[in-house]
Amino acid sequence: MVPWLGEEEARAAADAVLSGWVAQGPRVADFERAFAERVGAEHGIAVSSCTTALHLALIALDLGPGDEVVVPSLSFIATANAVLYTGARPVFADVEEATGNLTPQTVDAVRTPRTKAVLAVHQGGVPADVHALRAACADWGTALVEDAACGIGATVGGKSVGQGALIAAWSFHPRKVITTGEGGMVTTDDAARAERLRRLREHGMSVSAAQRHASSRPVAESYLEVGYNYRMTDIQAAVGLVQLGRLDAVVARRRALAARYARLLAPIPGLRPVRDPAHGEGNFQSYWVLLAEDFPVGRDALLEALADAGISARRGIMAAHLEPAYAGHTAAPLPVTERISRNSLILPLFHTMTHAQQDRVAAVLHAQAGG
Ligand SMILES: *Cc1c(COP(=O)(O)O)cnc(C)c1O
Repeated sequence: MVPWLGEEEARAAADAVLSGWVAQGPRVADFERAFAERVGAEHGIAVSSCTTALHLALIALDLGPGDEVVVPSLSFIATANAVLYTGARPVFADVEEATGNLTPQTVDAVRTPRTKAVLAVHQGGVPADVHALRAACADWGTALVEDAACGIGATVGGKSVGQGALIAAWSFHPRKVITTGEGGMVTTDDAARAERLRRLREHGMSVSAAQRHASSRPVAESYLEVGYNYRMTDIQAAVGLVQLGRLDAVVARRRALAARYARLLAPIPGLRPVRDPAHGEGNFQSYWVLLAEDFPVGRDALLEALADAGISARRGIMAAHLEPAYAGHTAAPLPVTERISRNSLILPLFHTMTHAQQDRVAAVLHAQAGG
């Protein structure tokens, strides 16, 4: 991944610095409005990362000790960690092989009477089937939280990921499609919940620092509950506003490069590239390919061969339940998760990638496959 940043972002950051207001302020408020509008949500609450966004989203649903939250193990580890931060227990569910995402069936297999929420991920930018998941969660009486860290620019049924979500969490890490360096957002349509989220990210304060600054009279704040310092800075938001303006171009370019990869790799037997599901379109944030068990070379050997050719690729999406941090945490068998995690790799894909660079990647894969 190479983030697509330029002069405009540099100028926007410099303007924020020169304005004298660098902490959470007017640029954060503008970024929240613009982002929420872009994804079709009523409210956006900017925070320091998607990890902190997930933490606050789960607190805002009053989850805590004794509660269970169903999560995919096949995700960046922050998804499961956010549940543990609240004292609730993450319960790992398997994923479907085509998308790497939870489905109502995989959730149903591990659900218990203590399941209070499902935390679904739009993994690698492939949208989860939220219509099916929302309907199932409504039947079960459980909340559905969306980890949309990778989801910006992806769509379900022609509408942005996150639209209609009870609560969704987003990331602006440079590994994602648009970036603020570090940064995150929570979106929701619920005004009361949005107000609580704004408070929680700022120490539980009843009045924000920006509001006090804007008042000509002294305003005394009080602390309504134990909160956190999870704020985004105005410097980051200034960069985010410019990046948001680039989103359509970024997604169009990534989709075009993904389609080209699919054509180049189609002749390789036993190698299946990620593709759009029937219910939506992805942003191809992570262009992962799945190797058949009988592929001529193993995944790690393939990564080595790519590295030998000067190409930086990565192992596929991790499985949290296999990490030392989750040793001793019991989980149901997760065969699809383990197969994807063991046999997949993520190929280079970035906005400024050339066709020649892409051809080089494909040539190594063809050579290794014996073609
Ligand atoms: C990147 C990622 C996160 C964490 O995002 P940060 O902004 O780095 O905290 C959480 N969940 C998923 C699925 C991710 O890909």
